[in-house]
Amino acid sequence: MTAKRDYYDVLEIQKDASESQIKKSFRSLARKFHPDKNPNNEEAESKFKEIQEAYAILSNPEERRKYDMFGHNRPGGSPFGSSGFQGVNISFDDLFGGGFDSIFSQFFGNSQNNSSTGSDLLVRHTVPFQAVMDGMEDELEIEALRNCNSCDGTGSNSDGGSRSCPSCEGRGRIDEISMVGPFRQRVRKECRPCRGSGRIVSDPCVICKGEGRKFQTNLVKFSVHPGIISGTRLRMRGQGEAPNSFSGSPGDLFIEIDVEPHPWFERDGPDLLMALPLSFADLLLGTIVEISHLDSEPLRIKVPPGSRPGETISILGRGLPSSSQSSRRGNVTAVLKLEVPKKTSRSIRKKIKELREEMEGELLPVEDRMSNEANFRRR
Ligand SMILES: [Zn+2]
Ligand SMILES: [Zn+2]
Repeated sequence: MTAKRDYYDVLEIQKDASESQIKKSFRSLARKFHPDKNPNNEEAESKFKEIQEAYAILSNPEERRKYDMFGHNRPGGSPFGSSGFQGVNISFDDLFGGGFDSIFSQFFGNSQNNSSTGSDLLVRHTVPFQAVMDGMEDELEIEALRNCNSCDGTGSNSDGGSRSCPSCEGRGRIDEISMVGPFRQRVRKECRPCRGSGRIVSDPCVICKGEGRKFQTNLVKFSVHPGIISGTRLRMRGQGEAPNSFSGSPGDLFIEIDVEPHPWFERDGPDLLMALPLSFADLLLGTIVEISHLDSEPLRIKVPPGSRPGETISILGRGLPSSSQSSRRGNVTAVLKLEVPKKTSRSIRKKIKELREEMEGELLPVEDRMSNEANFRRR
């Protein structure tokens, strides 16, 4: 299976395409790949389905907004349910009129039904690497549409200045029965008089202009747990956008945590990997390297005499806490490297030359060295 393509790419449109551009592009692509025009062509068939799916999402403002925010991996899984998008049968003729509109507007009947829930929001937030070791308490200022404090979200400060919409009985939606070809279809539409809010405001609140919600900045506090992995999304229930209707509950806020890279450690789950570049003398004679560490105890790396570049030294239990609740910590592994200075003084080069001649006498012939190295490598 190939990765799911971006819906905008599928419909060959820009991210800021208007509703009519989306429709126009869908119509022309759907005509091109319609099964009637491509009999027994599996590739066209799957293209046709892909185009339909992209159109189902992008032609629905609410779904489009969620897609723009979360992409294909939105919280709560596929909007089409666990089995994903199944495709619909659109007649070729419908692609010339608007006959396909009501088919697509049905998909999210259920989600529109509970559009009394506000939109979810996603923010990305970077934490220092140290937070993976210790965890941290953090906070963010989030600006979002929230219930207006002045009118308590009702849209009006006076008694009776805001009342339930009589056309939709406060539901904000109206069901219409219409004919699609030979079929009767129930289509759920936004109530016009109240613009889907379920309320008629005759004496609007001056602060929110009768909307019942307005942009406000809130301080959101949250905990980053030890062992956290980049890309983790923290869900803050009820901290998302206030609902568009006057009743209902706010959406959720997702905080996606991005961990800053460490100056020398790479992460492999709870294990930490690093390279330790040493001089030839340190490798030959052995040494102890002491560096400050994330757990505030110095990290002592004992390099034994005769160490070779590429060998590793592990220090058990000094890695990161694992992201699960267990108290076990990972390991630190240092890969030894040979640091060759780019520039050396004349006097050092002179001494090294003397040493080279002296050491050459202790080395095996080069063929033996090469085959020893090959044997080591092939072990
Ligand atoms: Zn208000
Ligand atoms: Zn209404």
